[in-house]
Amino acid sequence: MPPDVPPEADLDPEDWPAFRAQAHAMLDDILDHVAGVRARPVWQAPPARLPASLAAGVPETPEPLADIHADFLRDVAPYAVGNLHPRFMGWVHGAGTVVGAVAEMLAAGLNANLGGRWQAPIELERQVAGWMAELTGLPRTSSGLFVTGASMANFVAVLVARTHALGAGSRTDGVAASGARLVAYASDAVHNCVPRAMDMAGLGSGALRAVSTDAEGRMDLPAAAAAIAADRAAGLEPFLLVGTAGGVDFGAVDDLGALADLAAREGLHFHVDGAFGALGVMSPELKPLFAGMERADSIAMDFHKWGQAPYDAGFVLVRDPQKHMAAFASSAAYLGRAERGLAAGSPWPCDLGPDLSRGFRALKVWFTLRAYGTRRLGATMLQTCRLARRLAERIDAEPELERLAPVPLNIVCFRYRTEEDSDRLNAELVTLLQESGAAAPSTTRIGGRLAIRAAIVGHRTRAEDVDALVDAVLGLGRRLAPGLRSPQA
Ligand SMILES: *Cc1c(COP(=O)(O)O)cnc(C)c1O
Repeated sequence: MPPDVPPEADLDPEDWPAFRAQAHAMLDDILDHVAGVRARPVWQAPPARLPASLAAGVPETPEPLADIHADFLRDVAPYAVGNLHPRFMGWVHGAGTVVGAVAEMLAAGLNANLGGRWQAPIELERQVAGWMAELTGLPRTSSGLFVTGASMANFVAVLVARTHALGAGSRTDGVAASGARLVAYASDAVHNCVPRAMDMAGLGSGALRAVSTDAEGRMDLPAAAAAIAADRAAGLEPFLLVGTAGGVDFGAVDDLGALADLAAREGLHFHVDGAFGALGVMSPELKPLFAGMERADSIAMDFHKWGQAPYDAGFVLVRDPQKHMAAFASSAAYLGRAERGLAAGSPWPCDLGPDLSRGFRALKVWFTLRAYGTRRLGATMLQTCRLARRLAERIDAEPELERLAPVPLNIVCFRYRTEEDSDRLNAELVTLLQESGAAAPSTTRIGGRLAIRAAIVGHRTRAEDVDALVDAVLGLGRRLAPGLRSPQA
């Protein structure tokens, strides 16, 4: 043992009162950071040259906590993605809440491992699963599991459907042994994580059929039925239909009731990717959009998006717990179960997904749901949709702007009109907007054209932020396209 390490020392503070004071200061600093977010730029690029604190080598000797924290405040906190900010509108990012943040701190203090064993934290995860089953309309007996995000939740669902289709023997013999060629169906607007899940499941992303969509971005049902029939005729085995509740481009919601009918008729597992949309059932006004989701065999969702819980908090709900377990449960001598004692409480979360050691993600979601209640959270989701509608109306009223997609939820796709090189101008416009720190939308492609995409997900966004985005886009557009006369100018 090196001379500077006392024998039998643990890692707890030697001076608890001093640590406590420092810890309280750190809590205050992060609360100040959140409370002061509106006054800062949405985003600023990390310094081109790494600051000394980040460029240093492996730390071999102890450093004062206050120094490390000062480095964090100076070199890290100002250069995050910016999703706390009311004018962050890129991708689909939740803003988080301080309630979730302090709950996360409690979870870290408890340092619970939720892989299994008989413990209250797992009971609490089960309670959240029960709440989500109740909210989405699945049976209370459905099984649920926290995972990193909807990418993993969709993957778990694909594995559940795959094992059900091929039989449990496929887990030992491999997917190729049965000779069955499984195929799945989703709309061509499906999130990229679903083909990736097919890939990772050993079925191949090519075995996911991209069914065409209508003008509202919803899966074309006759086209889906025709694809299924063609695949059956070719000797393939359809096993899974994936509906989307809140599409990644502009928030399209498939006709989930019709998809449920189709899946029932064809004997397919009906899965819903509700990464950001599914939680919309908390709003009585939004809930009708998701009618049919209650008939899903499984649902993927993300509390870290519309649910405003801190990252990461993905969740998968599976109607039939036996089907869920059949895909993951396995026996190992060191994971034996008992009727009493710590080894009780089976089934364990490790029987429901790929992870063994797991953190206590459920706690921040449990706190979030209780501290705000589903009505308040649902009202916040509705508010983001109303702001999106306001944004759409402003765009529709500006001759220099063109809206490129419907606005079923909280995402608006549009662009600054130019006669030529419009894709390049709008891409440059978005980059400049991000670099200016004034607002941060992202881009996507709608009908082959590059779109400025504003997803209003965070709870801090107000009407003035939406208006500021429009004004900034108009200002930059006029600067970048001087040849184009604005009718009002
Ligand atoms: C965000 C999103 C995903 C991926 O979820 P992660 O939490 O980022 O893994 C999947 N599908 C849709 C529709 C999404 O919006």
